[in-house]
Amino acid sequence: MILKGKKGLIVGVANNKSIAYGIAKICHEQGAELAFTFLNDALKKRVEPIAAELGSDKIYELDINNDEHLANLRASLEKDFGKFDFVLHAVAFAPREALDGKFIDTTKDAFNIAMQTSVYSLIALTNAVEPLLNDNGAILTLSYLGGVKFVPHYNVMGVAKAALESSVRYLAHDLGERGIRVNAISAGPIKTLAASGIGDFRLILKYNEKNAPLKRNVDIFEVGKSGAYLLSDFASAVTGEIHYVDCGYNIMGMGDIATDDEGNTILAIDKN
Ligand code: NAD
Repeated sequence: MILKGKKGLIVGVANNKSIAYGIAKICHEQGAELAFTFLNDALKKRVEPIAAELGSDKIYELDINNDEHLANLRASLEKDFGKFDFVLHAVAFAPREALDGKFIDTTKDAFNIAMQTSVYSLIALTNAVEPLLNDNGAILTLSYLGGVKFVPHYNVMGVAKAALESSVRYLAHDLGERGIRVNAISAGPIKTLAASGIGDFRLILKYNEKNAPLKRNVDIFEVGKSGAYLLSDFASAVTGEIHYVDCGYNIMGMGDIATDDEGNTILAIDKN
C-alpha cells in the first residue's frame, strides 16, 4: 500500500464518474485517509455517500473562487484533519458556449471565468493549504492535450490548460524547498459531467479510441493508479511534470483511422 499513513484532500468529486473519484478510490485502496470538498448543496448529496464509501466523514463546502470558502476550508482542515500530505485539484469550468464553435469568438467573460476557475484555483488552493502540508507532500492537478495542441471545440479551455501546466512548473519551483512536489496528469478523454459540455465529445472519444496506440480510451481508475503513484513517495523525485495517461494518444502525429460523416472508414493504415 503506497499511501499507507498518508492523509489527502480531494477537490473535484461531482459524482462517481469524476476523475477525482477514480483517483480517490485508488488512494483509499492504497491506504490513504481522505477529506473531500463539494461545490454546492446539490453536489453535497453526491459527495457524502462517496466520502462514506471511501471511509471519510470529512467533507467541506468549497467554491474554489470564493476566498471565504478557502479560508474556512483551511480552518476546518486544521481542526479536523491536522497536518496532511497531499492535495488533488481536479477542477475546471468554462461557460458551455465557449466550448463549441470558434475560439476567435471567446468572450472576455468566458476567458476570465475559465482562467479563474481552472487555473488560478490551483494557485489559490495551494496557497491556502500549503502551511498544513507536511514536508515532502504532493499536489496533483488534471490537464488535457488541448493545452499543448489544437483539439476541436476545446477552445478557451486549451488556453487555460496551457496556463495550468505552466503554473504546475512555477508552483513546483516554489514548493520544492519544502520537498513538496507539484505534478499534473494529462488524461485522455473520459465521459464525465465536465466533458459533457465540450462540443462533439462523443466523436472525440471515438477518434481517440480508434487512433491511440492502445486502441481504447483510458478510464478513471487508470488515471487513479497513475495519480496515486504521483501522490506517493514512489514519485519522490518527480516534480513539475506533465504525465500523459491517455493510452498513448499524445504520441501520434497522424492517426491510423479516419471516418467520414456517416462513420464509414476512409483511411485505415495497414499495419501488416
Ligand atoms: P467532473 O465534472 O466530474 O469534475 C469537475 C469538478 O470541478 C466537479 O467536481 C465540479 O464540482 C468542480 N468545480 C467546477 N467549478 C468549481 C468551483 N467553482 N469550485 C469548486 N469546484 C468546482 O469532470 P472531470 O472530467 O472529472 O474533471 C476533472 C478535471 O479533469 C478537470 O480539470 C478537467 O479539465 C480534467 N480533465 C478531464 C478530462 C475528461 O475528458 N473528462 C480529460 C483531461 C482532463
